[in-house]
Formats: sequence, C-alpha cells, structure tokens
Amino acid sequence: LKIEEKLYQNRYRVAEGEPHVCIDPSKADSEALKAMVNICPAGCYVATDEGKVEVVPDGCLECGTCRIVCQGTGALQWGYPQGGYGILFKFG
Ligand code: SF4
Repeated sequence: LKIEEKLYQNRYRVAEGEPHVCIDPSKADSEALKAMVNICPAGCYVATDEGKVEVVPDGCLECGTCRIVCQGTGALQWGYPQGGYGILFKFG
C-alpha cells in the first residue's frame, strides 16, 4: 500500500470546538510554523495569502513533530485530544 492509502485507513473523532493544536495569532508568521506547512505528515498546516500559517488539526496523527519544531517559539499550543477523541490508528 502507498502511504496515502495507509493514512486513509485511519479514523478520527473530532472534538468540535476544542482543537488540540492552536496557533498564537500574533506569531502566525513565524519561520517555525512556515516550515510546518511542508513537514506535517498529515498536511494540517496551510500557508495563507497574507504570509501567515493556519492549522486545521482534524486529521492530526499526534506525531508531535510540530510540537518539537515550534518548541520555545511560543507560536503553538499543543496537547493530546481529550479521551475518546483524536486519531484511531488501524493496524494490519
Ligand atoms: Fe501534524 Fe504531527 Fe503536528 Fe499533528 S502532531 S499537526 S500530524 S506535525
């Protein structure tokens, strides 16, 4: 299977109105966040026409990469989804 086909087998339960990854709007143009547009394996980060970055964490794999890349910048708030929500990995 291709990686896209494997990812498609995962399922998500989205906690509406309670995103587990949030960007500080005042730091949405930081270089660390801009890098995430190309790094995030789930494609959760999107560059806007205004030179800023937005995040839509509904398909987040909870890999923690953005948490590490943005560590110390104050640009990102990251936590695991509340119990019962987030990604449901399908193995096999
Ligand atoms: Fe993307 Fe991983 Fe960050 Fe989720 S934790 S938004 S999959 S980089």
